Amino acid sequence: MNSKSPAIDWHARAAALALDGRPFIGGQRVSSVDGLTFDCISPIDGRNLGQIARGQAGDIDRAVQAARSAFDDGRWAARPPAARKKVLLKFADKILAAKEELALLETLDMGKPIQYSLSVDVPAAARCIAWYAEAVDKIYDEIAPTGPNALALIQREPMGVIGAIVPWNYPMIMSAWKLGPALAAGNSVVLKPSEKSPLTALRLAELALEAGLPEGVFNVVPGFGHEAGEALALHLDVDAIGFTGSTRVGRKMLEYAGRSNLKRVYNELGGKSAFLVFPDFDDLPRAAATVAGSMFFNQGESCNAPSRVLVHESIADEFVSLVAAEAPKYQAGDPLDPRTVMGALVDEGQLRTVMSYIEAGLLEGARARVGGKQTRSESGGFFVEPTVFEGVAPAMKIAREEIFGPVMSVLRFKDEAEAVAMANASPYGLQASVWSSHIDRAHRVARALRAGTVHVNQYDEDDMTVPFGGYKQSGNGRDKSLHAFDKYTELKTTWLRINQ
Ligand code: NAD
Repeated sequence: MNSKSPAIDWHARAAALALDGRPFIGGQRVSSVDGLTFDCISPIDGRNLGQIARGQAGDIDRAVQAARSAFDDGRWAARPPAARKKVLLKFADKILAAKEELALLETLDMGKPIQYSLSVDVPAAARCIAWYAEAVDKIYDEIAPTGPNALALIQREPMGVIGAIVPWNYPMIMSAWKLGPALAAGNSVVLKPSEKSPLTALRLAELALEAGLPEGVFNVVPGFGHEAGEALALHLDVDAIGFTGSTRVGRKMLEYAGRSNLKRVYNELGGKSAFLVFPDFDDLPRAAATVAGSMFFNQGESCNAPSRVLVHESIADEFVSLVAAEAPKYQAGDPLDPRTVMGALVDEGQLRTVMSYIEAGLLEGARARVGGKQTRSESGGFFVEPTVFEGVAPAMKIAREEIFGPVMSVLRFKDEAEAVAMANASPYGLQASVWSSHIDRAHRVARALRAGTVHVNQYDEDDMTVPFGGYKQSGNGRDKSLHAFDKYTELKTTWLRINQ
């Protein structure tokens, strides 16, 4: 939106919205097998936006069959990479062209500020699809360095039918992180979005079809995890699951694979990322502004939120004061107001979870230096103040568990060894950040941290070219970058004999 365009009345657009919550299978909207539905509640005001199909095993089976036939007859997989690229670039363009509609759906569905749905989520989803489209016709297969009597070709082939199961915190981006590499490589996909935010996924499937993606290649079945999600993860005709969500459900994905066909399982799971501030860092206000911005972005509902802030004891008081001055800039507001920087939590359950962590922190003796309360309850929506806890000990619940809300815990350390030990004393290992102006220390600590991404003197730098994923119980795969193709392709070796 430039300064000359008339301001959009997002509330009016929201009021005029007519939802279609039916599954998208085989290139069209279809009625669900059992006709079951659930309410789509907006976290902004508790309003019921409409009915969404509550997909069951029968719907999943139909979607997997559509994906399987589309894969087997080669309508997509057998097209040259350059042809797939054309369609996917068009798909990315269509996402951008529908940016206002998609942004509105995302904000209404999960509560993030409209300005970020527009400026972050929609462009990032489009960029991801376009990046894999651009990459796929530039990747060469290999010839192994064998002897003169043989030629050994090592080729990547699409895996087949990919089940994608995604969470509600970045519904469009998480879907795109699976769709981009899976579709570019030639697979068919059945996507099961979160029951808390299914709207944009259903629209993405329509846009992909309009862009020329053949019917059956991309299907979406909305529904609950223990119904549609479980049926997809157990399905015998699904070759791999690309899962993003909690560590608790990631564990189940591995069980489902063990109980069914040993399908590949790629888990992108939770986090409790550590943000380490050393006394030699020369710009504490920048570090404080960065940690607040990254923590409270998306209402703290980010897997990589820097929720464990470890500060050297000599600068801890000063640092907490700086962070406490930043936090109120992220007051929760109406997500449909373009000035709002922090929105609503996804639903009432998440509000209760976050408030119970805040209560646990207080009970265990931590102090809420800022925030700590529910807010805007008169709106009917689910809002919590940006909250900064000080006086946090490593054993406290708020220091150990993923809260997934706008709650930061500040802990103190005595020296570098203790800082590294505290940072690594977590079952998670998604991201971490080191703040030091001492080049040796920055490198030393970055090497010692057990996390998939370590930032030095910054936090949210991000790019499609770098992998995203975690060590330990934060997962076993990597989204983004060329490495994501590893998840959705098989390596085939073909030996040919050459007679001399
Ligand atoms: P969740 O695990 O509850 O749900 C994720 C998805 O799994 C949803 O679609 C849900 O319906 C489905 N599901 C739930 N139970 C299931 C079951 N028994 N069988 C099959 N499917 C099931 O997670 P959430 O609350 O939606 O998302 C928050 C979590 O996602 C956080 O832990 C966060 O850290 C994580 N996350 C990780 C990354 C990453 O890249 N590592 C990115 C975003 C979010």
